[in-house]
Amino acid sequence: MTHPAQPTASHFINGQYVEDKAGTPIPVIYAASGEEIATVYAATPAIVEQALAGGKAAQKAWAKMTGTERGRILRRAADILRERNYDLSVLETYDTGKPLQETLVADATSGADSLEYFGGLAGSLTGEHIPMGEDWVYTIREAIGLCVGIGAWNYPTQIACWKAAPALACGNTMVFKPSEATPLCALKVAEILHEAGLPAGVFNVVQGLGEVGGALVTDPRVNKVSLTGSAPTGKKVYAAAAAGMKHVTMELGGKSPLIVFEDADIDNAVGGAINGNFYSSGQVCSNGTRVFVQKGIKEKFLARLAERVGNAVIGDPLDDATSFCPMVSEAQMNIVLGYIEKGKEEGARLICGGARCDRPGWYLQPTVFADVTDDMTIAREEIFGPVMSVLDFDSEDEVVVRANDTEFGLSAGVFTKDFTRAHRVIGNLEAGSCFINSYNDAPVEAPFGGVKASGVGRENSKEALNHFSQVKSVYVRMGDVEA
Ligand code: NDP
Repeated sequence: MTHPAQPTASHFINGQYVEDKAGTPIPVIYAASGEEIATVYAATPAIVEQALAGGKAAQKAWAKMTGTERGRILRRAADILRERNYDLSVLETYDTGKPLQETLVADATSGADSLEYFGGLAGSLTGEHIPMGEDWVYTIREAIGLCVGIGAWNYPTQIACWKAAPALACGNTMVFKPSEATPLCALKVAEILHEAGLPAGVFNVVQGLGEVGGALVTDPRVNKVSLTGSAPTGKKVYAAAAAGMKHVTMELGGKSPLIVFEDADIDNAVGGAINGNFYSSGQVCSNGTRVFVQKGIKEKFLARLAERVGNAVIGDPLDDATSFCPMVSEAQMNIVLGYIEKGKEEGARLICGGARCDRPGWYLQPTVFADVTDDMTIAREEIFGPVMSVLDFDSEDEVVVRANDTEFGLSAGVFTKDFTRAHRVIGNLEAGSCFINSYNDAPVEAPFGGVKASGVGRENSKEALNHFSQVKSVYVRMGDVEA
């Protein structure tokens, strides 16, 4: 019997599933048990060629449809995603190991929001009329062409939709490569888009590791690359895209500050720190992994935090009661364990966790370190696992300087009841996606993305339309040409 997560085939090209077993096999491992639940095959050069040629051939006709027609298909796909939310959430859980408690509310639903939102905007993509006396200029907002999307492994359905929805709304086509750790969900997104009426070739999925991503990014037919991944991969992909003068969106990693002032509501601040460090077992790019707590409330904050973290339910991700999940892979678990050891060696105080769980699968205990200093490895490098660092501070001026002392700039959060200070501090923080008395909200209506080494461009919101379209200007002369 095949596992329910076994896909029909490895790739989805030109409106159908395609298989080519000549590619390197990629085992799909269920993180909660370590069992192999499916196999896909990396794209061979022939598969890459088929996908790029299909995407290129479909683009002009797709862009010629009206925005309303394109949007209708995206909104229909959003409805199907919502109708099948339970099954898609189970698949997401098999693909990533995240608990059903999360996948039921954060993955297919977020993908559906994106398809619905950009489907709604597709008909309103317009240019401007610029009067020039008798003459005038008008502008046209045009598709960029064939886009490549490359995803990380933490939100495979959401990342596929966050890239496809604005790209397709603007009249582009896409070849999407999921992370090799989570190859299943993007195939379902492609299947559902086609069931909703998407013309063949408009959204294609191919599997593979970085070398397949590299082949896609460097192909001269590709006009734009949108990557979600780590900063080192981002630098390589950005450079490869620059060689072909391609547009880019880079959604990369972070080491974001979450600042808790003495006047904050402690329970809300602890809740924000838990959401910003332990949701998806900490495998979230925007996490507030440097929690700066003002000295006067430090011990109270740590005591409440340890108590709440102790309530995490670690178990079978398919059980509704489970709130805490394994790492996506054994390799990622070992990377995070290495950081936990570094934290101990460099003198941070372990408040809770700090080890692997005694059960099958790639589970780590939710881990909190206190007395972390700015120079410690765990305070400087992105860990991408359930490890929170708590740092002390005295004054507002001091904490702003320390919060900004990082190469990254994805997110930042502030907890305080003093609203003047909240806005002042956020104004001084170098980050793209910020929160006041909250953490990690990412509605489709709000722009999402980073500054500094955390990336370029924005996903979600009307901003994403600017990153998936380009402007043509047309000067119209009413009189004679003087020469
Ligand atoms: P990686 O950077 O390792 O990989 C990202 C994707 O790029 C994968 O599909 C990978 O393929 C592919 N890739 C790797 N090398 C190349 C290359 N040379 N050319 C083209 N493609 C390549 O990231 P992870 O998958 O480990 O994801 C974790 C990272 O993603 C974290 O740093 C996290 O912060 C970041 N992230 C950022 C988000 C944001 O929105 N800012 C959201 C989520 C995660 P493969 O893995 O198959 O080899």
